[in-house]
Amino acid sequence: MSKYLLRLDDASDYMDVEKWQRMENLLDKYGIKPLVGIIPDNKDASLIYNYKQDLTFWTKVLSWKNKGWELALHGCYHKYTTKEGGINPVNKRSEFAGVSLDEQRKMIRHGIDILKQYGIVTNVFFAPSHTFDKNTLIALKEESNIRIISDTIANDVYFENDFYFIPEQSGRVRNLPFKLCTFCYHPNTMSDKDFENLEIFLKKYYFKFVAVKEIELKKRSKSLFDKLLHFMYFVKR
Ligand SMILES: [Zn+2]
Repeated sequence: MSKYLLRLDDASDYMDVEKWQRMENLLDKYGIKPLVGIIPDNKDASLIYNYKQDLTFWTKVLSWKNKGWELALHGCYHKYTTKEGGINPVNKRSEFAGVSLDEQRKMIRHGIDILKQYGIVTNVFFAPSHTFDKNTLIALKEESNIRIISDTIANDVYFENDFYFIPEQSGRVRNLPFKLCTFCYHPNTMSDKDFENLEIFLKKYYFKFVAVKEIELKKRSKSLFDKLLHFMYFVKR
C-alpha cells in the first residue's frame, strides 16, 4: 500500500493566516500531521508585500510542533538569485543552486540560528522552488544536523551523500503508485476548490497518511526504478 505525506510550503511571519488556519482545521479534522516548511528570514517580495506581518507566527509554529507537525528549514530568505536547476531541476531558479559553497554555508547558518532563537530544532530541509545542488548538501552537513531532504523524484526514501531523501512527486493529492508519495501544497495561494478537493481525498484516504516520524529511514540506494522515474520526469517532460 502506498503511503502519503502532506507537505506545506512557505510558512513565515508573512503569510495568509486565514488560509493557513483553514488548512490547520482541515488537517486536525482528519488527524493528518504534515511537514511544514518554515522560511526563517523572509525577504521574498511576493510574500512580504502581499501579507501583513503575523506577530503571533512563532507562537503558532511552536503549537504546530506540540501537535506533532514536523518543521523543516525552507531556505533562508526565500529569494531567487540564480537561474539554476541544480540536482532536482523542477524549476530554473534557485536560492541555492549555483551559489558558492561559502554563501550557502552562511545562509544555512543564518536560517538555523533564527529557528534556534525561537526554540526550533529541525533535521529536515527543503529548498525554495525545489532547487539545490551538491554544495547545499555540503553546507547542510557543515552547518547543521539536518540529514533529511524533502524533494527529488523517486519511488521511496533513499540514502545518498549521507542524506535521506524523502521524495516529493506531486503538487496535488491523487493516487499514485509510489511506495511513498509526498503531496506539496502552498496554502497561501490555494483556492476554495483546492481546499474542497483536498478534503474529498482526505476523507477517503486519511489512513494512508503518515508523519515524517513514522517514515522508516533506511539506508537504501536509489534503484533502477527510481532512476527511471527521475529520467521520465526530467527528460521526458
Ligand atoms: Zn517556498
